[in-house]
Amino acid sequence: MPETIARLTFWGVRGSTPTVDQATWRYGGNTPCLELVTPSGNLFILDCGTGLRTLGKRWAGSAQAVEADIFVTHYHWDHIQGLPFFAPLYSPKNRFHFYSFCSEFLGAGSLKRVFEAQMASPYFPVNLSAMSAAREFTEMAGGDCRKVGDTQVSTRFLNHPQGCLGYRFETPAGTIVYATDNEPGVPEFDRALRELASGADVLVNDAQFRPEQLAGDRKGWGHSSWLAGVHLAQEAGVRDLVLFHHDPDSSDRAVDGILREARSQFRNTWAASEGMVMTLDGQETQVTIPAVRQGQRREAHFRARIVGVKPDGQTFAVETVIRDLNLNWAFVYLDHEPRLQSELEVVIDNPAGPAAGKSLTLHGNVVRVEPGPDAKQIGVGIVFTE
Ligand SMILES: [Zn+2]
Ligand SMILES: [Zn+2]
Repeated sequence: MPETIARLTFWGVRGSTPTVDQATWRYGGNTPCLELVTPSGNLFILDCGTGLRTLGKRWAGSAQAVEADIFVTHYHWDHIQGLPFFAPLYSPKNRFHFYSFCSEFLGAGSLKRVFEAQMASPYFPVNLSAMSAAREFTEMAGGDCRKVGDTQVSTRFLNHPQGCLGYRFETPAGTIVYATDNEPGVPEFDRALRELASGADVLVNDAQFRPEQLAGDRKGWGHSSWLAGVHLAQEAGVRDLVLFHHDPDSSDRAVDGILREARSQFRNTWAASEGMVMTLDGQETQVTIPAVRQGQRREAHFRARIVGVKPDGQTFAVETVIRDLNLNWAFVYLDHEPRLQSELEVVIDNPAGPAAGKSLTLHGNVVRVEPGPDAKQIGVGIVFTE
């Protein structure tokens, strides 16, 4: 990697609790975990939610030693529950430096106590002594500032039940601010967050609730909204805003809607998505989402008309041909009842006619059987397996 690039990868973006339902699959169901590789190659991990397990799998079977600085915002489950499942912690060749804050509930050595508590009987089957990687712990307070490798790290306390640290990482390729689990509306905390976010290239901000929820029954739960994030980004002069910590009850379509509203007021807004990578080069931020989240693809040749929006906001409409189709599931009515969880084959004719290309043959599993519109028909849900 050239010396002028910082890379931020999202391994977990969901707030409060992991979700596994299909309706949240596209943005992802793992709880907070980000990876930041700084220009000189330092590896930072931000929070230890369930996304940490997936990140840890990268080194499976590798002889390479892992060394990382791990910044934990606070001790709520969704930010620490990946720790016992982070495989590199079980190898003596690896070394981790943890940063967090001294919680008034846990006392000195708060994060160390979290390790002991998470792995205590009867909550976890493996003894703490199996965690053989070297571990160092540093507690930071709000307003602290320290150099870690090539990066200046500073902190502010955020407005969240039992406390939460926001982090600012000033790398030679740009500044990233990680401010999750924060409720706006208390002037001293709002001021601290504006300082933390001031002039940032990328601001990752809590956007769990809709503005109307935040003004209603979710007030006091310690979270923010896309609208508060937009105002903060505008006031602090942020370049790119990332909506983060999606509510477990927000489906992918709900997050799409939140992103649409936010973009109408702040164009450089992104919705954090598992696998999303933001690359900073000192000038601008490139955003990519790897194919791994796109599901299985099938070769096709269907004529289509596409209407969309260009990066500059202009709309376009074009005629084209679909070359690949992402097929996850289908719902059909049949006059035979297939057995639940049995396999079946589906052949889909090319809607443009036989001359336009071949049909698609797919194999799937029956995941749902329900009464159809009349007594003779049965509704069948199919998830395609290959
Ligand atoms: Zn959280
Ligand atoms: Zn929290």
